[in-house]
Amino acid sequence: MVQARAKATGHLTRTVDNPRLQQFALWGLIALALAIPMLISTRYGQVLATRAGIYVLIVIGLNLVSGYGGQISIGHGALVAVGGYAAALVMVDAGFSFWLAAPFAIVVTTLFGCLMALPALRLSTWYFALVTLGFAEVVGGLLVEMSWLTHGFTGVLGIPMPRIGGWMWGAREFLWFVILLNIVVFYAYKNLVASRFGRALVAVRVDPAPATAAGVSVTRVRIVAFAMSAMLAGLGGALFAVQKTVLTPDDFTAEFSIFFLLVMVLGGEGRLWGPLLGTLALLTLPTMMEGLSQWRMLVYGCVLMVLILFAPFGLDGAISAAWTSMRVRLGLAPRRVAGSRLHEMGRVASASAEGALDRVEGAALQVDAVVKTFGGVVALGGVDLKVRAGSTCALVGPNGSGKTTLVNVISGFYPSDSGSVQISDLAVVGKSASHVARYGVGRTFQTPRLLPDLTVLENVMLGAYARERASLFELAFDFPRARKERRQLIRDSRRYLEFVGLGDKLYEPATELPHGQQRLVEVARALVGRPKLLLLDEPAAGLSLSELDRLAELIRAIRGLGTTVLIVEHHLDLVADICDYVTVLDQGKVLANGTPSEVFRNEAVELAYMGKAPVRFGTLQEA
Ligand code: ADP
Ligand code: MG
Repeated sequence: MVQARAKATGHLTRTVDNPRLQQFALWGLIALALAIPMLISTRYGQVLATRAGIYVLIVIGLNLVSGYGGQISIGHGALVAVGGYAAALVMVDAGFSFWLAAPFAIVVTTLFGCLMALPALRLSTWYFALVTLGFAEVVGGLLVEMSWLTHGFTGVLGIPMPRIGGWMWGAREFLWFVILLNIVVFYAYKNLVASRFGRALVAVRVDPAPATAAGVSVTRVRIVAFAMSAMLAGLGGALFAVQKTVLTPDDFTAEFSIFFLLVMVLGGEGRLWGPLLGTLALLTLPTMMEGLSQWRMLVYGCVLMVLILFAPFGLDGAISAAWTSMRVRLGLAPRRVAGSRLHEMGRVASASAEGALDRVEGAALQVDAVVKTFGGVVALGGVDLKVRAGSTCALVGPNGSGKTTLVNVISGFYPSDSGSVQISDLAVVGKSASHVARYGVGRTFQTPRLLPDLTVLENVMLGAYARERASLFELAFDFPRARKERRQLIRDSRRYLEFVGLGDKLYEPATELPHGQQRLVEVARALVGRPKLLLLDEPAAGLSLSELDRLAELIRAIRGLGTTVLIVEHHLDLVADICDYVTVLDQGKVLANGTPSEVFRNEAVELAYMGKAPVRFGTLQEA
């Protein structure tokens, strides 16, 4: 058994993409990109390549907010317009150099975008989409109406090329500059996507609850992603203005916005290479059909339909699927591993899982007179609960007695109507769930909530969100601190997965595991955040007898690390086996309280659940 596992892990270590090879390929690509201006001789080719580079920057931003983050920005072209006009106007009318105008455009666009999107980002995806659409309409109108500023239909003329001292740039230098920007931006984007920020962004899109349980502030992550995309739109706009030398309102039609969305979808939403592949495809396609320009929208539409049918994850998805299946067929990979969307795989393979787990200092929990109602339903009618630091306490009671609600109140997911919850020195009332999580409260959900787009390992890594200290900038440019934390995180995540007995499932798509194992992944995800208090909502549901034994052992081991555990459980023998205290809930009230042997001998409990027969440990029948 042990041998089998070692072998499986060994396979993965050997066959998962070789990080050195990846590095090598990346450097090759960079060299190729830098050579492009020398390879292209025609002026038309230069213009097209520059345009492509500018579009890639913009679509990378769109991919962050809409592809990874799932917030559809329909009017993204309007942000490009703001950036373009901001840069063009200060260059032409105020005589700024490009080097001042571009940062100015970025700042203006980001401010504009955030002002517009801030309220909408707190609401639904569709609300956000509508707001961006409206924003695009307003910007389009203002470009014409505010002619004292924007020169109306005439537009801004004579936008100059950047220059450095007496060195006036031509089209080729500008192309080089755009390529250089692409390399820097792509590098940062690639790192960010594979960082805790990328995991949080995907988690927030797929299911905010586990993200919140890991300490992620949903609104904050969305705002940051949108601000990044606005920055890139501002930069793209400034470059666009310079390249066109003339900006008019007609440059920024609805089609312009739709084009970026189309590029993103064609390349693959939320996929690393999507922006580049999509741009290359959509810019070369029309060139290949010169003379068919009036059919352009029709062709775009057909391309999109073919794509939906044959490549639901865009070009990036299709290419990586073909690549994987080729490797499997050639015997270079033993089997398919999950197509990680966050590109962690190469990095992961080299991290070792050996070493001891860290001890934590358990927190004491005190719940006083907590009331929680849903409409007319009193889910909790004044509950008191005390859990000593470092102990293991069970919460039992029939279905509907308020156990899950209590877990939700303790972890900050539900505000209580009255009463107080104290976890060591944190007063939970009034705090957001992500705040409580960051303080050191880990939890699982009654129905496992793993993120289907991510591997088992990535799901577990999400759990450590609140522990990392490296800033976004450090993450984007892979500073030493970011690198160190990443290595540590991967090592820890593997250790906790070994700890719960899933060390050989690192690269499986998380939601394809059997239910019982998904629960264990959730436990590992909570543990990697090194919680002071761990709340487990029915971890044993649906486990086989042998799995139950292992769960008991696991919970004892977790306790051994120092963590305080509150476990919702129906199996009384399991509870008697591992818990110091038991609290019985019935219809939102505490029915009994004490050590397992005291509680299970309690007459009220017997009466409520087992008729009058004396208690033999077994399973509480669900009411
Ligand atoms: P348990 O976990 O003990 O089975 P719950 O805490 O899930 O019980 O539910 C307690 C009561 O609160 C039930 O009557 C349930 O219907 C109600 N309840 C729980 N969550 C909600 C909610 N989000 N909205 C409305 N009612 C709820
Ligand atoms: Mg429940």
